[in-house]
Amino acid sequence: MNYTVQQITEITNAQVIGDKSLVVKNIAYDSRIIYSIKNTAFVAINTHKNSGEKFIEAAIDRGINIIISEHEYPQFENITWIIVKNSVDFLQQLAKHHFENSHLRSIGITGSNGKTILKEWLYQCLWNEFPTVKSPKSFNSQIGLPLSLLQINDSHELGIFEVGISHPNEMEKLENIFHPQIGLLTHIGTAHAANFSSEEELIDEKIKLFKDSEVIIYNGDHSLVEEKIKKLYADKKLISYGLKNKNQVFIKKNTKDENIIVDYFGEEISFPAHQRDESTLTNATALITVLKELQVENKKIVEKINLLKAVEMRLEAIEGIKGNIVINDSFNLDLDSLKTALQFLNEYNKPKKSLVLTDIVGVSTNSQELYEEVSELVNEQHFDSVFLIGDEISKYSELFKSKTYTFIDTKELIESKHLSEIENQIILLKGARKFEIEKLKDILELRKHDTVLEINLNAILHNINYHKSLLKPQTKMMAMVKANAYGLGSYEISEFLQHHHIDYLGVAFADEGVELRKKGITTPIVVMNPEQHSYQTIIEYNLEPEIYSFRVLELFYEAVQKSGYDKKYPIHIKLETGMHRLGFKGFELDQLSETLSSKNLKVQSMFSHLSSSDVPEEKEFTFNQLKTFDKNSSYLIEKLGYAPIRHILNSSGITSYTDHQYDMVRIGIGMLGESPNPQIQKQLQSVVSFKTVISQISMVEDGESVGYSRRFKTDHLTKIATIPVGYADGIPRLIGNQVGSLGVNKTLAPIVGNICMDMMMLNVDHVPNVKEGDMVTVFNAKPSLKEFADYCKTITYEVLTSISPRVKRIYIKD
Ligand SMILES: *Cc1c(COP(=O)(O)O)cnc(C)c1O
Repeated sequence: MNYTVQQITEITNAQVIGDKSLVVKNIAYDSRIIYSIKNTAFVAINTHKNSGEKFIEAAIDRGINIIISEHEYPQFENITWIIVKNSVDFLQQLAKHHFENSHLRSIGITGSNGKTILKEWLYQCLWNEFPTVKSPKSFNSQIGLPLSLLQINDSHELGIFEVGISHPNEMEKLENIFHPQIGLLTHIGTAHAANFSSEEELIDEKIKLFKDSEVIIYNGDHSLVEEKIKKLYADKKLISYGLKNKNQVFIKKNTKDENIIVDYFGEEISFPAHQRDESTLTNATALITVLKELQVENKKIVEKINLLKAVEMRLEAIEGIKGNIVINDSFNLDLDSLKTALQFLNEYNKPKKSLVLTDIVGVSTNSQELYEEVSELVNEQHFDSVFLIGDEISKYSELFKSKTYTFIDTKELIESKHLSEIENQIILLKGARKFEIEKLKDILELRKHDTVLEINLNAILHNINYHKSLLKPQTKMMAMVKANAYGLGSYEISEFLQHHHIDYLGVAFADEGVELRKKGITTPIVVMNPEQHSYQTIIEYNLEPEIYSFRVLELFYEAVQKSGYDKKYPIHIKLETGMHRLGFKGFELDQLSETLSSKNLKVQSMFSHLSSSDVPEEKEFTFNQLKTFDKNSSYLIEKLGYAPIRHILNSSGITSYTDHQYDMVRIGIGMLGESPNPQIQKQLQSVVSFKTVISQISMVEDGESVGYSRRFKTDHLTKIATIPVGYADGIPRLIGNQVGSLGVNKTLAPIVGNICMDMMMLNVDHVPNVKEGDMVTVFNAKPSLKEFADYCKTITYEVLTSISPRVKRIYIKD
């Protein structure tokens, strides 16, 4: 986009205070991930969940001088304000105008699943055919779609945008803003179906997007979809795709170890396939249909599909050597993906950063202009060092303001040893695929270990949002990150949750809170087990103690007085309601309120804990706990004369006793994707994946033994795999000797013999195509974490907290 403030106000009927002649080329909506301040306006988006106006100050601090907001804040000087009635309507109006005045061919993708993957695939296939713009990540909502459309500029010829809805009547609004020429309908399934009374209603709503489309490409395997589209849009060009041969484009042949053959209106297109699951194949037929519609030649289509194999859609953040964090994004390189990566970088608050950047290949724009734009983006980040790889980009090294080094290829950078001098920084690796800069990742990575615990932060967010969707919008949420966030890494998880505005964090001991503060976590932190020796530390680091007895209350208050703290120190009162662990009992409340009113303390919250919210048979007991809590907390509120936050529900409490949410809930295992309730479990995403690889495969002769103490003996020639994980990694020894099984190539392989300290052996006789180096799943899908916990005769909590610190944790984010 490229508008003056004056033009924007004319388009949207907004008011201006300040300089109308300023030019806006970007709209930033999140003050933490502003990657460029030049010609950028910050929009404070107000939703029913949150007000963006809180972040105006941060945006101004970053150097933004144009603010779009529903209110003016005159305390900031030299700011141009665009004052709007409703921030979301504003974005939608501007985006509608912008889209309607652009001259691109547009593809609109909607459906329940596969929107993002198809968008990314299409983009990879088309970006070097036409200058293409697409929605970043899965920006497809009432806010995400307008922001995506606003990225369109004069140079773009093709736009690929996702459109997502989760409630009735949402599509009409979105279609009013964005009416794609080519409509693509992906799989219709249960995602977001919860808010619709029937599947039919969901389909009707989604296909409203195609009201003004010329072509509709839809998955014809779904007969209701087919029927609806044919009826409503009989006058349009309709193309069906899918697995079944009744479609116009379908999978004609899928024979193992041979090429896949797709039939496109009788024409055969054949390509090798890496993955052959149904959704991948269905998506492939959709992809081919769109490419054909855009007149891409068959030969090119096949070449492009072959390249898709290496798709790594995720940005990985990896713990590096020397305290570095390495962000690896070596899948493709263009301006948009560079922007996305720079945004991602800004989510971490390491003060120093370095960048490795290669030539941008395969674009037709003038390279002087291209690299000028690249260098501007990069210069705004104030990198400590910039390493440029490739002769093209090296020509423009003068444009980069940081310490800049140039190399002809990745190998030369490796040999220069520059990388080993980087300490305590965040290092972004951003390169075109042909430069193979993932080799740098291998060098920069800490502990090279085949065994990893992969933690999917997006899934955590999904699970949190799922739980939030059950609650009232104003109910606060505390995330329990005690015990190293259930073993997953308390800093990494807390940093992510802080970024997503969690209200409170909960730790067990003061030390855990101190570590978080030292690394820059500023969210309020409650310490559940404040030990006597740690009170000074608690105060020094601005942590908030749980107070569960008169002894703790007196001692803590002494420490507050000694520290010279002169305001009311926030504390959290634990009430005992039946678990008999910690807390004040009913008969102590009078004395408690008296003691509290004589002290300079502020009861920030009062809470209790349910012992059996996950046990359906204990409903009656739980209701008694809830009743006691209600009674005792109400009594205390009356006595105190003010109303602290109240909270009692843990994860399974949120799902089973939602009505008792009070002012806050405390989520733990639920954010990690585990629920005792199978219905809820289905809605959650799995977060943790414990993986390793096969070190060696041996054919063990009939009658031989395997492992210590000869506890397994073969009764025929048996294929045995050795893997580098043992009881020192936190796998209980009791699941050896065929009690537990691990996943190899989607097949369960029993653990045979005794588990060793650092290794164990699996029987892989029946596992198809097994070879050394293959991945082994200790748990995630097959077996699931729950099944693995069952082998261990324990609960998922204990499994997670027992995984040894030597297992490398990797964090995944889209
Ligand atoms: C650990 C903990 C929670 C979280 O429990 P989950 O069952 O993991 O949701 C909640 N409240 C308190 C006091 C806790 O110690």
